[in-house]
Amino acid sequence: MPIATVNPATGETLRTFDALAPDALERRIALARAAFDEHRITGLARRAELLTRAAGLLDEDREGVARTMTTEMGKPIAAARAEAAKCAPAMRWYAAHAGELLADEHPSAADTEDSGAARVVVRYRPLGVVLAVMPWNFPLWQVVRFAAPALMAGNTGLLKHASNVPQTALYLEALFRRAGYPEGCFQTLLVGSDAVEGILRDPRVAAATLTGSEPAGRSVAAIAGDEVKKTVLELGGSDPFLVMPSADVARAAATAVTARTQNNGQSCIAAKRFVVHTDVHDAFCELFTEGMRRLAVGDPMEESTQVGPLAMEQGRADLEELVDDAVRRGATVRTGGRRPSGLERGWFYEPTVLTGVHDGMRIHREEAFGPVAAVYRVADAEEAVALANDIPFGLSSNAWTRDESEMARFARDIEAGGVFFNGMTASHPALPFGGVKRSGYGRELSGHGIREFCNVTTLWYG
Ligand code: NAP
Repeated sequence: MPIATVNPATGETLRTFDALAPDALERRIALARAAFDEHRITGLARRAELLTRAAGLLDEDREGVARTMTTEMGKPIAAARAEAAKCAPAMRWYAAHAGELLADEHPSAADTEDSGAARVVVRYRPLGVVLAVMPWNFPLWQVVRFAAPALMAGNTGLLKHASNVPQTALYLEALFRRAGYPEGCFQTLLVGSDAVEGILRDPRVAAATLTGSEPAGRSVAAIAGDEVKKTVLELGGSDPFLVMPSADVARAAATAVTARTQNNGQSCIAAKRFVVHTDVHDAFCELFTEGMRRLAVGDPMEESTQVGPLAMEQGRADLEELVDDAVRRGATVRTGGRRPSGLERGWFYEPTVLTGVHDGMRIHREEAFGPVAAVYRVADAEEAVALANDIPFGLSSNAWTRDESEMARFARDIEAGGVFFNGMTASHPALPFGGVKRSGYGRELSGHGIREFCNVTTLWYG
């Protein structure tokens, strides 16, 4: 994939970039390692000061960086501003909380006296240079949620961003430098995915985090496994959205529209499969379909646009294949199912509702990365759970019910990294984020996220 800014609303290539030459890449890895030796012994107060300064700059830059994101990957400008606005608080949250999250632990003397120690301390020390392979869909937030905890823990970061968001990637490096981070603490590597293996095998690189598709995750995990290096993987999802008879169906349907079409439908935690109890199926479908039909699709720079183009032409082709397959196998298109007229230059696709979806269709098992909803009808909670779990993924899930026993059952049985009741999945700095099954492993955000790239060190004093 060329490293370039291509406007998905028009298909126009606006800027191309050369990949880093091997000697420049070598220099940057060396810098990252040298910076780690300094940064790891910098006090938490200083790290917090730097991160807080970066947060302040990001707040000031919000409009500009939002426009860059919309230009590069097509999210509506209001959503881009919201993404930028979400980043600074997360930085401030880690600046404020890293001290307590990484505080020394002191196992009780009673628990450890038979270890022969007079005293034991568990300390969270940084791991080293962490490679972050990141996707284009939340080009700022995905990186910030890695960088803020990693830098607070004393690691240094190398960012290999998706090839279609190079200007956002360069902005991020500049942001951390402007905030005062020493050279090498956080660097952007303009390289293609073919360079990842070499970087990951470099002995100066300690670990990697990848947010992206399952094939990319599998490849990085295999290489890291071969090198015995720690990884965190945040991969795809096909989150279920369960609607049971006791639910507030109108609110569920309105939320379903947002949950499915946020970020033009290209979010890992977007609800993608709507599993609806037969008693409320028709009422839900009517409201949901109407909500999807009413969305304003168009130029993402327009304030009124709710759904912009898909980020990549290939992404739209993949989505069209999934819809065609479902229709061939008996699904009904309630709305959408085609490219909108009048927007032929960009990679637009109409918000789409498919009903009558069943497990013989590709969309049942594959992630629909665009504004296409698959709706199922189920007879009871047992069938709902079975359908929710009948996929390779397990990122998050949503369940709409006011029945306490159903809530308890879903909390116990849904195979996912999250169950959001009567609402939609969203990330938050204080809440762990991540999945099971082929959605990956490890957690980002919260205390769990900051400890992923730490060397949990036992200090035993005789
Ligand atoms: P992608 O194609 O996997 O790309 C993600 C990143 O991985 C990019 O930087 C890409 O570089 C790189 N990459 C691709 N193939 C690679 C390989 N074989 N080895 C090493 N690096 C490789 O994914 P995407 O299309 O950008 O993002 C969409 C996917 O990400 C969806 O499946 C979505 O659900 C998932 N996602 C997950 C989360 C989560 O938190 N779980 C969050 C957001 C997105 P190039 O651009 O240079 O190819």
